[in-house]
Amino acid sequence: MASEPVVRAALGLGGNIGDPVAAMARALRALDGRADTSVTAVSRLYRTPPWGKTDQAWFFNACALVETALQPEALLDVGLDIERSMKRERIERWGPRTIDIDVLLWGEAAIASERLTVPHPRMTERAFVLMPLADIFPDGMVGGRSVTDWLAAVDKAGIEVADADCGWWQRA
Ligand code: ATP
Ligand code: MG
Ligand code: MG
Repeated sequence: MASEPVVRAALGLGGNIGDPVAAMARALRALDGRADTSVTAVSRLYRTPPWGKTDQAWFFNACALVETALQPEALLDVGLDIERSMKRERIERWGPRTIDIDVLLWGEAAIASERLTVPHPRMTERAFVLMPLADIFPDGMVGGRSVTDWLAAVDKAGIEVADADCGWWQRA
């Protein structure tokens, strides 16, 4: 870990092919196993209807807080590497996937590079992100409003808690 300052980042995870819960659990354990990153909080596990492209299987979703010495693009790359290691193929936008790992927040930074936009630009309109994030970071600020406030403004229809034990990722 050495000299890099440690920053709290929020990640959003999801998937709807194969065994997405096992994939998300493995991803979180892989992150937590890194010398430069620890997982400090994991949300409940949710089952959510597909968003954007609705003719596909329901998703599982969760969020996690990490403390990381990685810079934002490096954290993105770690997530993309884990996705690739789980054989995620990008076929169509918002289509079915074994696992998706998005960087929602990185400290209080606002980032707009070619490869990375933080806060994640669609997080404030997605109940499948805001509900799990509210479990672990209700007071987190996104664009001047708290996660709780954003959550109050979105449609939560259909979303269910699939596992209320936040230790699901250590067992699945
Ligand atoms: P969405 O971003 O709407 O949730 P998605 O997660 O399905 O869609 P991906 O196919 O996983 O989209 O990612 C496409 C690209 O988005 C990535 O290669 C990455 O460079 C870029 N990207 C930009 N900002 C972010 C972010 N905050 N988190 C993850 N990826 C991001
Ligand atoms: Mg995504
Ligand atoms: Mg993604």
